[in-house]
Amino acid sequence: MDQPNTREELLEALRERTPGSGKVWQDAQRVVPGGLLSGARYFKPYPFFTERGEGPYIWDMDENRYLDCCMAYGVLFLGHRPSAVVEALNDQLERGTVYGTPHGLEVAFAEKLIECIPCADQILLCNSGTEATMQAIRLMRAYTGRDKIAKFEGGYHGWHDYGAWSIDVVPDEMGPADRPNAVPNSAGIPEPIEDTLLMLPCEESAFDLIEEHAAELAGVMIEPVFGGGTIPMSKEFLEKLRDVTRRTGVFLMFDEVITGFRMALGGAQEVHGIMPDLATYGKIIGGGLPVGAVGFAKEFESTVTDNDFSVFVGGTFSGNPFTLAAGNALLGHLMDNPQIYDELNAKGDFLRSGFNEFAQAKGLPATMTGIASLFQTHIKHPPVEKPRDLIGQHEDALNDLQLFLRLNGVFIPFLHLAFLSAAHSQQDVEEVLRIHQVSVEACLAMHQVT
Ligand code: PLP
Repeated sequence: MDQPNTREELLEALRERTPGSGKVWQDAQRVVPGGLLSGARYFKPYPFFTERGEGPYIWDMDENRYLDCCMAYGVLFLGHRPSAVVEALNDQLERGTVYGTPHGLEVAFAEKLIECIPCADQILLCNSGTEATMQAIRLMRAYTGRDKIAKFEGGYHGWHDYGAWSIDVVPDEMGPADRPNAVPNSAGIPEPIEDTLLMLPCEESAFDLIEEHAAELAGVMIEPVFGGGTIPMSKEFLEKLRDVTRRTGVFLMFDEVITGFRMALGGAQEVHGIMPDLATYGKIIGGGLPVGAVGFAKEFESTVTDNDFSVFVGGTFSGNPFTLAAGNALLGHLMDNPQIYDELNAKGDFLRSGFNEFAQAKGLPATMTGIASLFQTHIKHPPVEKPRDLIGQHEDALNDLQLFLRLNGVFIPFLHLAFLSAAHSQQDVEEVLRIHQVSVEACLAMHQVT
C-alpha cells in the first residue's frame, strides 16, 4: 500500500476507511462529553467504533480488521473470546450474574490469586485497578496512622484524587529532577490532597526523600514497569526501594495492575524476587470483565476485621459471580499452562529487538521499550530509561505514528503502552513488526524527522 505523504492525506485515508464510525462519532458527541468515556480512547480524526473481537483481531463497524495490540489496554491476555472463559461465562449465565451474597467462586478465585502472588496471604476484591489502589492506600494509612503516600513521577495508579498526579511529565511544571513537583493531572482535585503526597523521582535521590519523610509516610507505591513510556524499573532499583522502605518502616506497594499475571504468574515480584508488602491487580485477572484486587500480608488482616480499627471496604459488584467465573477460568487456564509465559515473552523480545535493530541499522530516531509482552515505540534515539527521557520527542510524529499503524492494520492504544496476547501467533507478531517498520519510516519521512 502507498503511504500518505501529508497529514491531510493520512487523515483523509482514515476517514475514507471508517465512514460508519464517522457517523457514530457525531452522535456520540451529543450524548457523552467529547464523545468519549475515556480520554485515552481519542484518535484523530476520530476513533473507530468496534463491532467485534476474535483472537488477535478487532473489527470496526466498517469491517476493517486490525491486529489488536491494545487488547482492551492489557485486559485480554489470551486474546478476544478465549474458549475457556466463554464457556465459564455461558455456564454462569444460567445461574445469575450478581447475587449480593457470598458465594463459592470468591474462595476459589482468592485461593488461586494467593497461590500465584508471592506477597499475598489474603485478598480483597473490587471492580477496577483504580479501586484496588484506593483500597491499598486506605490499608496502608489505617495500619500506620499516617496520611502521606509516596508515588513516582510518571507512574499511573488510576484516576482517583490520590493517584492522578504527575502521571505525565510536563516540562514547564515538573521541577528539579531530584525533587520533582507534584502536578495534578485533572481539574477538580482538591488542593489539600497535595499535602498527602510525596512525589518521587525515578532515580536514586528517591531513597533519600523516603528517608527524610519516613515519619509521615504510610507507604510508597510504584509500577514495576512504568506505564507512561513502558519503562521497566531495574531489579537493582526495586531492591534498593525495598531496602529503604523496610529500613524506615514504610510500606511498599507494587502496582501490578499491568504486570500482574503478565510478566509471569506471580508478576514482577516473582520475576525480580522482591516481596512488596502489598500489591494491586486488575485487568487480566477478570478474564475480560471489570475487576480489581489487593493482595497483602496477613499482618494487614486486623486493619480490616478489628472493630476498633477497621477499614471500610464495600462495592455492590465487588466479587460478583460473573466476573469471578471468567477470572477463575482464566487463572485456572494460566496455572495449567505456564508455558504460555515463555512463549509469549519470547514474542515480545522478538518484536522489540527486531524493531530496535531495524531502527538502529537505518539510523532512525525511534526506540521500542518494554519487557515481556509489553511494548511502546518512541520517536527518539535510545536510551529511554526514565519518564523524563521521553521529553523532547517530535510530538506530531509521535501522534501520527499511531495513525499510520492504524491505517496499515495494527491497532495500538494512543500514546500508551501496547500489548501482545497469547492469541498472537509468531506470524502475527512478524506482521506487527513489519507494519511498525513501514509505519515508522513513512511517518518520519512525512515529518522530515532525522
Ligand atoms: N494502575 C496501573 C498500573 C494501571 O495501568 C491502571 C490502568 O491502566 C490502573 C492502576 C487503573 O486501573 P483501571 O483502569 O482498571 O481503573
